[in-house]
Amino acid sequence: MTESAPAPDYAIEVENLQKVYPAQGKVPEKHALKGISLKIPRGSIFGLLGPNGAGKSTFINILAGLVNKTSGSARIWGLDIDEYPRQSRAAIGVVNQEIVADPFFTPFEMLELMAGFYGVPKAERQSIEILKAVGLDDKKDAYVRQLSGGMKRRLMVAKALVHNPPVLILDEPTAGVDVELRRSLWTYVRELHARGTTIILTTHYLEEAEELCDAIAIVNHGEIVACEPTPQLLSRLDYKTLVIHPKEPLTAVPDALAKLDATIRPTGELAITFRTSEMGIGRLLEQVRGAGIGIGDLVTEAPDLEDVFLALTSQAA
Ligand code: ADP
Ligand code: MG
Repeated sequence: MTESAPAPDYAIEVENLQKVYPAQGKVPEKHALKGISLKIPRGSIFGLLGPNGAGKSTFINILAGLVNKTSGSARIWGLDIDEYPRQSRAAIGVVNQEIVADPFFTPFEMLELMAGFYGVPKAERQSIEILKAVGLDDKKDAYVRQLSGGMKRRLMVAKALVHNPPVLILDEPTAGVDVELRRSLWTYVRELHARGTTIILTTHYLEEAEELCDAIAIVNHGEIVACEPTPQLLSRLDYKTLVIHPKEPLTAVPDALAKLDATIRPTGELAITFRTSEMGIGRLLEQVRGAGIGIGDLVTEAPDLEDVFLALTSQAA
């Protein structure tokens, strides 16, 4: 993008964004977004996390200009999407959930077409560089139908980058993608981020959001139920579980440990869940030994995003 205006603080700002899909035949109307407000800082890797049907793609598609919002406002790179429909979209590259690749073009031709669509002058096009970056330069003249699923996915990313947008949006880019490709895709996304690109991704792979994103919004039934820096979100779960393999099999939790949140797992381990702010592991182990339990082995389990997610979304059915 050739913007001379200073970079904005927020890559994306939406306020009270609503979407109602009208009824169609027997399908009733659907309130897919119920007033979403969100500010995504420039330079972040921001995760939009939620189950299927939560409204993630609707949100992305409104930004991309593929779905009309019902009400509310959105700014991309400081530009209101109603006031500046073209300029605002020039600031984002969107990788959609579905792979749409015309089988009769080569990857190089597809990138040139996209660049033309965005009005990138021939001299400024970087099709080859982009294909190199996603590891497809040796396939530049192959027919798209000859590419593997993983290669097509990388081509989708390449297509979103032809106009060098400061914001890259990926809608579930690793759904149905093998582990190796997922790794290489994330490595590339991290590189883009290191070079200054703001990254927004939707996923229902919780570990992925936890590993990649510096901030996460959890969306459920068209509403944001949490939006925090990742460590803060995780620290909401201020507990751990101490799992002890006893030397002698246990049939019940000893009376001496009755005050703790302790259970015997079906596999025979003694599992004690404790608040890390209230109790250290040392003191806990003293109590276990005090109850006459010989410790064969032990591990601690920390809560992951899955637990946060369940805790936040289960009550809202
Ligand atoms: P997600 O991407 O989080 O899985 P979507 O945004 O795709 O969620 O869908 C949110 C809700 O809106 C779902 O209930 C879905 O069925 C509905 N929906 C999505 N697209 C349409 C559409 N074009 N017409 C009617 N309903 C839709
Ligand atoms: Mg979706």
